[in-house]
Amino acid sequence: MSERARIIDELLRNDIVVESEAVEIIMERGGLNYIPELVKKFGKCCVIRVEDLVHSKEKSPHDISENKKSSEKSEREKSGIKAVMNVKAEKSLYDIPVTSGTSRRKERDEYDWDFKVLLNAEISEPASGGVDDFVAYFNDRYRRLARIIRNRIEIRNEVSIANLISATNEVSIIGIVSDVRVSKRGTLLFTLEDPTGSVNCIYPQGDFLINDEVVGVIGRYSEERNVFYVKEIVRGGFSHKKSPPLAEHPVSAVIISDIHIGSKMFLKNRWEKFLQWLKKGDDGASTVKYLLVGGDLVDGIGIYPNQEEELEIDDIYAQYESLATYFEDIPDSIKIIVIPGNHDMVRNTEPQPPLPSEIRKMFNGYVEFLSNPSVFLIHGYKFLMYHGASLNDLVEIIPQMNYQRIDDLMKFMLETRHLVPLYGGKVPIAPLPRDYLAIDIVPDVFITGHVHAYSYANYHGVHLINASTWQAQTKYQKMMNFNPDPCKVAVLDFHKNAIRKLQF
Ligand code: FE
Ligand code: ZN
Repeated sequence: MSERARIIDELLRNDIVVESEAVEIIMERGGLNYIPELVKKFGKCCVIRVEDLVHSKEKSPHDISENKKSSEKSEREKSGIKAVMNVKAEKSLYDIPVTSGTSRRKERDEYDWDFKVLLNAEISEPASGGVDDFVAYFNDRYRRLARIIRNRIEIRNEVSIANLISATNEVSIIGIVSDVRVSKRGTLLFTLEDPTGSVNCIYPQGDFLINDEVVGVIGRYSEERNVFYVKEIVRGGFSHKKSPPLAEHPVSAVIISDIHIGSKMFLKNRWEKFLQWLKKGDDGASTVKYLLVGGDLVDGIGIYPNQEEELEIDDIYAQYESLATYFEDIPDSIKIIVIPGNHDMVRNTEPQPPLPSEIRKMFNGYVEFLSNPSVFLIHGYKFLMYHGASLNDLVEIIPQMNYQRIDDLMKFMLETRHLVPLYGGKVPIAPLPRDYLAIDIVPDVFITGHVHAYSYANYHGVHLINASTWQAQTKYQKMMNFNPDPCKVAVLDFHKNAIRKLQF
């Protein structure tokens, strides 16, 4: 393993993500020996940029974000105009917290929120979307996942596919899977490709693989038959997550998804009952300081066949206006964080950028608009929030899966360390130079929505939440024989590290 790879591995072990160029600086400053100093200075679980290392030796990246935030804020206060950040992702892979708004709710700054954005994909799709863009995208996917898989203890004697010819012993190779098929006898046949070449693989043990996932395989190569005999398949996975320190005071986050404002099936009364609960502050609601919404804020227009017959509000702007009015009703002390879903007014290819400024400005600047997916920290808990469109593909591809087992699908994503492990399914992927759908940092809380079901599981210390809906069954869902499980809410208590399920 190269020194560079060792440094990146060590940083990832500390949940530190760095800009690629920052690795060179770390190498100059002593490489692996410099990492303990970095951890001391910046803490674990953070994003370090080149500028953090060069310009601000004494400050943490978070300090920098905060400074930047406050200077932006003062600019905004001067102008009184809503500031919309348009971070060019080519320059900065990790965005700075977006706190935009007018002074109407300035008093909100006084609330003691402990919130930081770690990953927000505010990046436009390449204009061409040509073959080169996809090659760059898959190279990045391979690079990110191979780095994680390489860390697994099972992976020994790793060789590149081009060097297999000289390998006589048992070796490991890491590659992207394609052309998966199962023989009559149940043997798994597939092709594995890395940047140096490709090789046909045979795995008699069966198991299952999906096309485009990145895996490590352990086995022996037969030069004679030009085949790699697989003994074991290794996915990125992760080891048990230790939960973050408990919050000192009672504080909690409410997790919901798929509101679908504008639909005739929007369950208005039950939604209003939920808002009443938040407002009254009884039964634990007074500890709620965050409201997270996993996408499909509105029903949108033209999303499924004959949708117009089922729309109460047939103008998408009016749908968002209605949502903004509801949000106005939520106590000021609650920070609202939203990502878009496939019904929202952003491009459908993933990652989906945050909702555009024309929508944001309806919300008076007190809502945090992030991308789908996005990663953020609340009270030391890492949240990965993803709308979940790929659940529809995974449920069909993974043997013995169904919509009653959403948590198993979420576990699979964590195991493959990717939100959309297959390419060419129902989820279109934007061929960006960075794979925002790779799960670089294992979260403490993983949230999805989209399938309009409630599910909760704890998997190796990670809270897996699929966050229900506020929409009753549509005709389309009826036709697809799909029964939603609406108006359920998950409440994460940071004081007890516990999840409570509420029904409205
Ligand atoms: Fe939905
Ligand atoms: Zn959806």
